[in-house]
Amino acid sequence: MPKKTKLKMKNKKSADQKAKNEKAVKVLNKVEQPIKEKKIKAPRSFQTLKGMKDILASENKYWEYVKTKAKNFALNYGYEAIETPILEETALFNRAVGNETDIVSKEMFSFVDQGEENVCLRPEATASVVRSYVQHGMLNLPQPVKFFYFGPMFRYDRPQAGRLRMFHQIGLEAIGEESPIMDAEIIFFVYNFLKDLGLKTVIEINSIGCPKCREAYKTKLVNYYRDRKSGLCEDCQKRLVKNPLRLLDCKEEGCQTYKEDAPQIVDWLCDECKNHFVGVLEYLDESGVTYNLNPRLVRGLDYYTKTVFEFFSDNADGVEGRQDALGGGGRYDGLVEYLGGRPTPACGMALGLERIILKLKENNIEIPALRKPDIFLAQLGEQARKKSFILIEELRKSGFYVVHSCSKKGLKKQLEMANKDGVKYTLILGQKEVIDGTIIVREMEGGAQEIVDFNKTVQEMRKKIILQ
Ligand code: AMP
Repeated sequence: MPKKTKLKMKNKKSADQKAKNEKAVKVLNKVEQPIKEKKIKAPRSFQTLKGMKDILASENKYWEYVKTKAKNFALNYGYEAIETPILEETALFNRAVGNETDIVSKEMFSFVDQGEENVCLRPEATASVVRSYVQHGMLNLPQPVKFFYFGPMFRYDRPQAGRLRMFHQIGLEAIGEESPIMDAEIIFFVYNFLKDLGLKTVIEINSIGCPKCREAYKTKLVNYYRDRKSGLCEDCQKRLVKNPLRLLDCKEEGCQTYKEDAPQIVDWLCDECKNHFVGVLEYLDESGVTYNLNPRLVRGLDYYTKTVFEFFSDNADGVEGRQDALGGGGRYDGLVEYLGGRPTPACGMALGLERIILKLKENNIEIPALRKPDIFLAQLGEQARKKSFILIEELRKSGFYVVHSCSKKGLKKQLEMANKDGVKYTLILGQKEVIDGTIIVREMEGGAQEIVDFNKTVQEMRKKIILQ
């Protein structure tokens, strides 16, 4: 190889090497560069969704009180508990409640699930209970079948005091009875239940007839409102075409004046509906329940027939435009058939728990406190802690409500905790008691203490505390 070529190759080699070296240095430099500290963002905190609330321990006594009372009332009136799923097929409510109602057209929490099914969080429970009645062939049971339920409902409403997107209802449904006595019994139930809670109630009642007599009335109503269309709110202009009955319960200021002279459905009831309504009122009169006849009460759901009613707290002002009904209900004689069952008369109601609790608070109604713990178990030292752990379980098995401190706080701190918990007795297990096989029983009110045999703790406490 000529010397020149050799040299050229050598130069090229060293140039390549130089480039390689430079690259390596660059990489090294890069590695050696101080790693910039990544800023770690504080994890974001979360809030409940708009219109939804946590029910905290401080609220518990109200919820327990109202729920327990409602359940006892329902059982006394012969209603049996039913629980239906919170998630249902959207079509169930489209069909039962009605596509043109606010609930279905504006307020449904509906979505398509992973299996491509259109599902929704239930906005109310009557449709679900009727679905269940039909699905499980309950028309073969002795009629009426009377249901009681409690649970959350979901409506994408504008949140405000007493109006939430997730709220709870207590409800009754009596399926398979056409007599007006059933409507009256349900009204009477609510009246007595609210009275028992300490709430005075105003009952608004009306009849919206059956599909036959309602059609003639609707024509009359539409004719009346058509001449006043330009003065109506946007929603009412739509209602005029899609759901004329709801013109009567519009809450907009501008629409109120037209209601005064609007035709009243009671004047259009067929004989059957009229007799039924008179029957309900007679039963109410008989039982001494006072009510207001409200010809403009129509309720917002399509399934109602004949009787409709709402309950308001007595201190609510003015009947018209009131938005704070504690509950409402009515007859729905067409719904069972509409959801695939045989023609079956039915009637029901739902009460809003949040609104009832709000009223109890507003009226400063005293609610009994929840059950307080019976015993506090204070322990000192490792061995006592282990021994007390087993004793606590024994006491609990015997029905005592026992609290304790898991950490190593001294006796003074533990007695302070026992005082806060409001217990009548504190059991004290220290090192000495462990050795002696005893335990100290301290009466919290006077501070008197006695020493008892550790193995007889449960018997001794049974003598002192009468369990309910
Ligand atoms: P409804 O199913 O519309 O007849 O409602 C029955 C009762 O449920 C009402 O009278 C209220 O007490 C309660 N309720 C209805 N909607 C709401 C809501 N958005 N927030 C709280 N309570 C409600």
